[in-house]
Amino acid sequence: MRVPSKPEAPPLGAVVVGGGPAGAGLLLAARGAGLLDALLDLPIRIIERGDAVGAGELGGYAIRSDSHAESFFRAVEAAGQPPLSLALETPTGREMLRRRGGPVALSTAAAFLAGAFEELRGALAASGRDPFLTGLDAVSARRAARGGWRVHCRAVGGGGEIELDAASLVLATGAQERPERLLREVVAGGPLLPRFAGKVVLSSALMSPAGAAAAAERLAGRASPKVAIVGGSHSAVACARLLLDASPGLHFGEGGVTVLHRRPLRLTYASEAAALAEGYAAFGPEDVCARTGRVFPLAGFRSDARELLRRVWGLGGCGPEPRLRLHRLGRGPDAEAERILAEADLVVAALGYQPRALPLFDDDGESIALHAETAAGAPLVDSRSRVLAADGAPVEGVFGIGLAAGYPLRGTHGEPSFEGQANGLSLWHGETGAAIVRDLLAARLDDAPARMPDLAAAEHA
Ligand SMILES: Cc1cc2nc3c(=O)[nH]c(=O)nc-3n(C[C@H](O)[C@H](O)[C@H](O)COP(=O)(O)OP(=O)(O)OC[C@H]3O[C@@H](n4cnc5c(N)ncnc54)[C@H](O)[C@@H]3O)c2cc1C
Repeated sequence: MRVPSKPEAPPLGAVVVGGGPAGAGLLLAARGAGLLDALLDLPIRIIERGDAVGAGELGGYAIRSDSHAESFFRAVEAAGQPPLSLALETPTGREMLRRRGGPVALSTAAAFLAGAFEELRGALAASGRDPFLTGLDAVSARRAARGGWRVHCRAVGGGGEIELDAASLVLATGAQERPERLLREVVAGGPLLPRFAGKVVLSSALMSPAGAAAAAERLAGRASPKVAIVGGSHSAVACARLLLDASPGLHFGEGGVTVLHRRPLRLTYASEAAALAEGYAAFGPEDVCARTGRVFPLAGFRSDARELLRRVWGLGGCGPEPRLRLHRLGRGPDAEAERILAEADLVVAALGYQPRALPLFDDDGESIALHAETAAGAPLVDSRSRVLAADGAPVEGVFGIGLAAGYPLRGTHGEPSFEGQANGLSLWHGETGAAIVRDLLAARLDDAPARMPDLAAAEHA
């Protein structure tokens, strides 16, 4: 991209760092809420280091979605301005529509999102309002003495630097599994590394097309390969499913794959009656959503992972599935877990994703430590999507959205017993994204009272 030599003026209403499903998705959330024109008028810029927007890293996982296909196209299909229909009419779009009500390959979902955002971007560009800056890497952001944030960006591959001034900042930078965690987190007597050096792989690497092929190659020569998967998340069970059902060259014997998990594994059901009818009774009143009657709508496994567990537990006439073993890790010494890990040909670490965020600095140049950095699994944001500093107080004017941001749903949605994180496009393209958009607009209203009539009108459009 061509980088302008001067900071953009006048200052922007908001800079969003990351143009993946969450960051770019703010546009869809705004469109759904009738606030897209107001958001674009702030104005807003969305910085993406890649060439394309909308899909982020979703296409890098060689598995099917845990959410239904419509969670990827609901906000595109919804009525709004500008109209969006072309992406749903392509072969990929039609495949998405065919998959409604069930899972879809994440590679297909990613291709669809890339096409849908290309369509949206084209429509906005036609009226001179394309908010995306691609090929640009945000390096850090510094609080400005007069309020707002100055975001320092560098063109990918060289070519210049740019600073963008904005009233608000949104971090939509995604998340990653941090390899350092393998050296620290104790699993059955000690960290996985260096104990099992040479045979440990991160779940995100295993789920990539190249990683899945490499694992298959590594295990193919073994008569009875053994894999230990550490973690109780969707990623952990998705890895088991990938190895057992989608790796044709691999032949696992009884207990060939073990998932070592700390918390109990749960299944989602449409109702208590549906769960009980197929023999699933491991839930209580706190595990049922009062609004929908669904059992474990948030904590429960869905899609392919759910089907695999139903086979293991012989629910609803499914199974048997003797190749997969589930081992609940104890808090104290666990000799059986140690044996499983020691005997495994491959250990898959699914210990969780941590937000990437962005280095933030105060106006005096002092680094702002984030709450998400204080402990593994600590949330990046609060219930208003405000990014939290290490002391737990919101960093003024900075919001976070997307994978592992830790947006809390407890007490607002789903089952009262839910304690985990909510990660899903339906939130970001829906009410969570729209709430951030409203806050960005409100911050600008504080900034520039003259704009108030326009924005107030847009809010009710
Ligand atoms: C294995 C797995 C399966 C999942 N399945 C589902 C599912 O079925 N349904 C569902 O709703 N959700 C699912 N999710 C959760 C989530 O929807 C996806 O992870 C989604 O890709 C997250 O979008 P994101 O925008 O937060 O992050 P990403 O997809 O990582 O996108 C972040 C973007 O920001 C850019 N970026 C990052 N840092 C910078 C920077 N400093 N400067 C410029 N650009 C930057 C990156 O290039 C990238 O394009 C899944 C997650 C995982 C890990």
